[in-house]
Amino acid sequence: MNSAEISTTCPYCGVGCGVLAKAAAGGEASVRGDPDHPANRGKLCSKGSALGETTSLDSRLLHPEIGGKQADWDTALDLVARRFSDAIAEHGPDSVAFYISGQLLTEDYYVANKLMKGFIGSANIDTNSRLCMASSVAGHRRAFGEDIVPGIYEDFNEADLIVLTGSNTAWCHPILYQRMLAARQARGTKIVVIDPRRTATADECDLHLALDPGTDVLLFNGLLAHLARVGAVDDDYVVAHTTGFDAAVALAQADAPSEEQVAEGCGLKSGDIRLFYELFAATERTVTVYSQGVNQSAHGTDKVNAIINCHLATARIGKLGAGPFSVTGQPNAMGGREVGGLANQLAAHMNFDNPRDIDRVGRFWRSPDIARRAGLKAVDMFRAAGAGRIKALWIMGTNPAVSMPDATRVRAALKACDFVAVSDVTRTDTTRFADVLLPAAAWGEKDGTVTNSERRLSRQRPFLAMPGEARPDWRIICDAAARMGFGAAFDFGNPAAIFREHAALSAFENTGERLFDLGALTDISDAEYDTFEPRHWPVTKKASGRLLGGGKFPTADGRARFIAVRQEGVALAVSAEYPLALNTGRLRDQWHTMTRTGPVPRLMANTPEPMVDLNPLDAAANRLADGDLAQLSTRYGFARAKVRITEAQRPGQAFVPMHWSAHFAANAGAGALATPIADPQSGQPELKNVPLRISRE
Ligand code: SF4
Repeated sequence: MNSAEISTTCPYCGVGCGVLAKAAAGGEASVRGDPDHPANRGKLCSKGSALGETTSLDSRLLHPEIGGKQADWDTALDLVARRFSDAIAEHGPDSVAFYISGQLLTEDYYVANKLMKGFIGSANIDTNSRLCMASSVAGHRRAFGEDIVPGIYEDFNEADLIVLTGSNTAWCHPILYQRMLAARQARGTKIVVIDPRRTATADECDLHLALDPGTDVLLFNGLLAHLARVGAVDDDYVVAHTTGFDAAVALAQADAPSEEQVAEGCGLKSGDIRLFYELFAATERTVTVYSQGVNQSAHGTDKVNAIINCHLATARIGKLGAGPFSVTGQPNAMGGREVGGLANQLAAHMNFDNPRDIDRVGRFWRSPDIARRAGLKAVDMFRAAGAGRIKALWIMGTNPAVSMPDATRVRAALKACDFVAVSDVTRTDTTRFADVLLPAAAWGEKDGTVTNSERRLSRQRPFLAMPGEARPDWRIICDAAARMGFGAAFDFGNPAAIFREHAALSAFENTGERLFDLGALTDISDAEYDTFEPRHWPVTKKASGRLLGGGKFPTADGRARFIAVRQEGVALAVSAEYPLALNTGRLRDQWHTMTRTGPVPRLMANTPEPMVDLNPLDAAANRLADGDLAQLSTRYGFARAKVRITEAQRPGQAFVPMHWSAHFAANAGAGALATPIADPQSGQPELKNVPLRISRE
């Protein structure tokens, strides 16, 4: 690191790569991968290496606005506080809500959660991480008793088999994918890809299982039944460390009695299934990676547990090169989980279903009115706003007018809501609905911590001055809290002070029953916080790294739970009216709704327009040629995109990137097409499947 550089963390995905950055001319920055950061060892992907071109965006919000007119901070914050306080006084605490973001740093998240759950007295705070990995959280809690990712990135280097399910890792987590390819080079690691599409990841793999949408539970139930059939179950481990094995295997055997029946149900060849099952059964060092293809489903939690069941049966968990591994979409999706950023969780991995947890958090915060039950999850929150039950809504750092499923209805809800405040970095489709706009600090200006997909805490550090009157999110939230009468509990001088309280809460009356524990950081000084080196949690006096390898789980009896799951299929089946199954996902060079990456020419070069991928058979059946402009319709809405004909798409299926918004192309948002039908356990919507009709414009 040269003297002008600071070490920080990339804000784009859950890999959490270290970046060395410094200010450059014209408000831009120069960046390079941090060779000392354990997540990436100096590498950056296309998005990360273009970070320096995103710091001087024209559309930055520079001043607070009320009703579209510039205002001063005091007036804007007074208004936010008054409208929230008035709604609470008149209609109760559940009449207000926060919708926040995996872009917020842990300290921002912490104070937002503390304000809503501890002081307003409602749990109506949810995050766009609900669209990302809520099903993994629910699956982890069911199996392990706590939201734990057992493994660390080193396991990708040490595995002999990597199963990538519902993950286009080559594009969505490129630096992790490079680790996997390095493992293949170094030790001959086999890579199996389970994905309906032939993605860039599938192009490189040893075996691609292009299963029918929504059949993952059947595939993994078949694997569990196979492991039992061929004697590959670790009986000693199962007896000593788990419960529920017999019921899970019985249901798996009933669901998937033979490889032929699995093949028929999944739309695969039985020979390929056998190959996968034999490879898994024979390979001790197996990591199964799961991401949005598993999570974004009406049965995502069951899919997660079907995967974990196979790892528990073989005792491959928390060991070198072995374990189930959820990878997240956002840099701080995990940090949000840690502070309770989801509506159904309390802070520090405590839960609403445990009255002692509610009491403990309430006492720690000295809450006047701690929330006592889970709040509205994202889909229900916007429904409630549309129905007039949410009177005041504060959106922070996210663009639900585009990214939420059934986005047309979400926009209508924002319009109908009595009062909407938005804090963000730039103007977005969502800021159009704001009664009050609050300019927030951006990457390069923000100061705090994030947690990546391997539980590694890492610092985002500022190296640019905040432009105009922009302020850090934590400061904006604390200032609003003070105006609502809660100043003493939000009198933080800097992010380090917030982090100390967060660490203290994680250790408060925690005698080891919760593995999320930052107890050794409770007294971290400002100087130590400034120089904090990336490390895994738990951060206690004991060593940290892999978790759960010893066979002790944070459940009441210390055992992991097999969850008996049954194949349920997709929420909505194709029909004569809507004959194609629409899948959505990321492009290699774009981030979320493109608010940051869209203005960078070199990131737009690869896919400059909204497109829909179609198999040649479906293109012909709909009289569409490559490059035609097509109208896409689902029962929820419509969008336009250019047709791209490709054999990578299976017949009967279509693919649209998730990114486009009205800022970059009119009527192109995938959210307008997507279904809000959600997993009953996790509340995560089925963004990967909705029946579609397509025609030429
Ligand atoms: Fe950033 Fe993710 Fe790329 Fe790393 S892999 S540089 S965290 S976008």
